[in-house]
Amino acid sequence: MTAQSRLLARADFNALIHALEAQGYRVLGPRERAGAIVFDEITRAEDLPVGRVSAQQPGSYRLEDSGNGRFFDYVHGPESLKRFLFAPEERLWTVSAEGTVSFKETLPEARPVAVIGARACDIAGMQVQDRTFLAGNEKIPPLLKGGHGGIYTDPYYATRRENLFIVAVNCTRSAATCFCASMDTGPRARAGYDLALTELEDDFLVEANSTAGEALLAALPLRNADAGAESAAAEAIEAAAVSQTRRMDTTGIQALLFDNLEHPRWDDVAERCLSCGNCTMVCPTCFCHSETDVTSLDGATSEHRRQWDSCFALDHSYLHGAQIRPQIRQRYRQWLTHKLASWIEQFGTSGCVGCGRCITWCPTGIDLIEEVNAIRATPGAQRAADI
Ligand code: SF4
Ligand code: SF4
Repeated sequence: MTAQSRLLARADFNALIHALEAQGYRVLGPRERAGAIVFDEITRAEDLPVGRVSAQQPGSYRLEDSGNGRFFDYVHGPESLKRFLFAPEERLWTVSAEGTVSFKETLPEARPVAVIGARACDIAGMQVQDRTFLAGNEKIPPLLKGGHGGIYTDPYYATRRENLFIVAVNCTRSAATCFCASMDTGPRARAGYDLALTELEDDFLVEANSTAGEALLAALPLRNADAGAESAAAEAIEAAAVSQTRRMDTTGIQALLFDNLEHPRWDDVAERCLSCGNCTMVCPTCFCHSETDVTSLDGATSEHRRQWDSCFALDHSYLHGAQIRPQIRQRYRQWLTHKLASWIEQFGTSGCVGCGRCITWCPTGIDLIEEVNAIRATPGAQRAADI
């Protein structure tokens, strides 16, 4: 969808929130909670992390005052869009054995939700998860070349996805851990959003990318953007891309990782990895989960529940009476080779969108780019056999 860009004055930002509310959306946006930026309900511009920036380094995240009144300089926090589509924990169905045995699917409420502040990497992560959870869903146009690609549609994910309105914010700053430019996923949102905002001096450049987005514009106090505003936005986004010092070299990455499964670097990283699973919790594309049945004490009813799990959890690799990845070396290798190599075989796209969250939120500051580079520097090296 191409349309004239328009400007929304920063002072009129409440109009965007109120227009979404008037159309029945539950409005979520960035808020500061316990020292980090997360998505939560917002009702006014003052709820946003005004004048806050995040200093991010491997294993370190700290919010600081910027000294200005900008709304979206904080880059991103630990949360992406994942939590709003693939719920951290939910009931999938219930079973009742009272009289005859009956199953009841417990789909989520189809309530429209608008998220303000999704970044390009968040939307790219959602596109990757679409490949996992959707198969030819006509209500949701596929965002990646080749269609949704999935075999089954997850109705829980699809229900939320169909009811999501995304107000993207193009990044005009990057964190030190970001590398979306080298993964070709950002910092400008390119598809999959309804509205995109780029924060300028006193205004937001607003672009619509869907019929719903275009319809919302009619309710906002906008003025047409001139070429100067459009080029200022483009320059600010380009500056964010250029400022990224981390780059993932993806050249031949599938062969590199598949050919180096016994590289000594896997032992090296295992010395630093706590197997805590933080990297998988914050990753916008990770989808590992476990399912359990919770039965009532009288055995008359039960609930089937799904919750996020991690390939770093020992139990997650328990198959047919044995742990198939008992060592941390094996679990880290599984995560990295899946994310960057076998994901491409499975889903036709990388499982990494370059958000850098796994680097920031790793308690020991493990950087997947450094791990790949170390293997690339000494390909074919072999670890000593286990004693
Ligand atoms: S692997 Fe790390 S950098 Fe890549 S998408 Fe996941 S959290 Fe982001
Ligand atoms: S790489 Fe870091 S975040 Fe991931 S499991 Fe290991 S210690 Fe935890």
